[in-house]
Amino acid sequence: MTSPPPPVPVSLDVREYREPLPDADSYLALWQWIEPHLLRVDPREDRSLRLDLGDRGALTLRLLDPAGNPDAFGPGTEFAVRGILETPRVRYACGPCAPSGTRVYGPFQCHACNEEKGKDGGTRLCDRHVVILEGAFRTVCPDHAPACPACGRPGVFWCDGGRCRNRRAWCAAHRVPHPGDARTSYCRDCFDDRFPSCVAPRCGQTGYLRCEHVRSAGGETCPHRVCAAHAGRWQIYGPHRRGLVLCPTHLAGLRGMSREDVVFQIVAATALRRRSRAAGPALLPRLSVVRHILIHVRDEALDMGVVDALFTRLRATADGTRGGAEMATLLDAHARVREQDLDAFRGDQELGRRHYEALLRMLTADGRGQLAERLSFSDFRPKANALYVRVPPDVAGLFIGRGGSGVRDLGARLGVTLKVEKR
Ligand SMILES: [Zn+2]
Ligand SMILES: [Zn+2]
Ligand SMILES: [Zn+2]
Ligand SMILES: [Zn+2]
Ligand SMILES: [Zn+2]
Ligand SMILES: [Zn+2]
Repeated sequence: MTSPPPPVPVSLDVREYREPLPDADSYLALWQWIEPHLLRVDPREDRSLRLDLGDRGALTLRLLDPAGNPDAFGPGTEFAVRGILETPRVRYACGPCAPSGTRVYGPFQCHACNEEKGKDGGTRLCDRHVVILEGAFRTVCPDHAPACPACGRPGVFWCDGGRCRNRRAWCAAHRVPHPGDARTSYCRDCFDDRFPSCVAPRCGQTGYLRCEHVRSAGGETCPHRVCAAHAGRWQIYGPHRRGLVLCPTHLAGLRGMSREDVVFQIVAATALRRRSRAAGPALLPRLSVVRHILIHVRDEALDMGVVDALFTRLRATADGTRGGAEMATLLDAHARVREQDLDAFRGDQELGRRHYEALLRMLTADGRGQLAERLSFSDFRPKANALYVRVPPDVAGLFIGRGGSGVRDLGARLGVTLKVEKR
């Protein structure tokens, strides 16, 4: 028993065949029609065999291994089609080219069409019909070629700014180039958002800094932007942390603020910093620092209890807005620190009061009782061992002495640094 001969390998070229061959079945049917013709062919034939089919075009066959074929083909011969040559088909044809009757490969897709009709639902585009503008690789069809929102002329670049986000294209007349990157352009509004000009008159520099003055409990801030040279720093976090940025107007306005305003600004601006995390973790300044802020801003040295009460009152009015809730969180965390500050402060003040009583006794013993009666205690700072007293202006010279010699002597006798509180 001999094994059946291997199938005869052939190739089929259908590039001149004009009937449609949409699927495998149509190929099978075509082959069944071809096979009887093959049986009449010389198995050793090494030239191509062309079957002219008139209106249906032509088919070309070729025996791939004439030397290996059996001596004769018969009804039992099996053929194996090893390759088929087809006309390349354009699967993704350019849509806009179609009306002219040409099928051209369209490698691009229209983003806008895809958004309307779903991914891959949109028009295909050849490189002649695709619209590609500067700024972003966002291809669109001619129908969706964007017009400049300002003037209606054809857009030439996608705006990379925060308002447009590469979705709006503007014409050349409405382009504002990025100052340092030639590939990026903006519309006027987006440019002004990104590179706002400094609010200081005739400055002309970019205002990279935002004024941190808070206008409302909701957290709305001053819209002013300032350059580094015109920005004021309100050092509410002490000398080693970046203070709040203030525009010239709000820096000048500090001195006109009420105690409540000052404390509100401190808390509201810190809450905003926390939200943006722009300047690292933000904590409210300690009571002693706030007390000094009030001395600087308002020229008044308040009792720590009074300063503490400003925070307590602000907490009571914190509302349910997002800004209010953030302020409340900050204030609640701060309450413990304030309590510690108050305790420490009371201890210090007791010590200070004792120094102060000693000062009064000393003055009285010196025969200056009338001067002693005009003084009042202001503060004691234990780290500096400094006793601050308030002195009415009309007797200030008498108390301070020539070149400060009076206070220096009194301080030396008391064992403290004696200072006159600013007003
Ligand atoms: Zn086209
Ligand atoms: Zn489109
Ligand atoms: Zn325009
Ligand atoms: Zn824009
Ligand atoms: Zn400036
Ligand atoms: Zn401002």
